[in-house]
Amino acid sequence: MIKEILLQAAAASYRATVPAGDYWMQVVKAGQTLRILDREGNQAADTLFYNAVDPSERYSAVDTIREQGNVYLTAGTPLLSNLGNVMLEITADTCGRHDTLGGACATESNTVRYALEKKCMHACRDSWMLAVVSHPEFGMSKRDITHNINFFMNVPVTPDGGLSFADGISDAGKYVEMLAHMDVIVLISNCPQLNNPCNAYNPTPIEVLIWN
Ligand SMILES: [Zn+2]
Repeated sequence: MIKEILLQAAAASYRATVPAGDYWMQVVKAGQTLRILDREGNQAADTLFYNAVDPSERYSAVDTIREQGNVYLTAGTPLLSNLGNVMLEITADTCGRHDTLGGACATESNTVRYALEKKCMHACRDSWMLAVVSHPEFGMSKRDITHNINFFMNVPVTPDGGLSFADGISDAGKYVEMLAHMDVIVLISNCPQLNNPCNAYNPTPIEVLIWN
């Protein structure tokens, strides 16, 4: 569902560019609105959410899908935790669909999906691992890497129940916004993937904005 809220970028309290292949990890406080902007189009932002007070509570794709009765995420979707609490709610979306089934790219999946020689290519899971070891203040480790959302990524479920990584439906300037219902640690890997059409074989920067 396309829903636009005209928050003014100039009024944002925070704005940062995240290059492709880099990560962004910060706390977004309850009541703040987070925007992820697909600056050049056809990018994928592989994102994890944790309760900032206790990161063992984290985003759950299973609970989110079951409660809304839809495998795709868009405006109006409450993003639920493994404890059934609303962590954030998608309040605006100019892309219209986001994936939470496909998982993040990893060196292992690069090998299975593409070729053995793709194993050493940079993947989202590497960026997440670098993020958690670079930010010991959050008390997280490899074991905390779990379900994620692939913002802007188009992963249609096929009629026979499979998943297909399809050409992106996002475009330059499309964005998604979420209102935080609790203090959340947000960990985004701006996907460096070069082997599938999720980012048009050309990873590009995203932007992160926060309004109080
Ligand atoms: Zn990726």
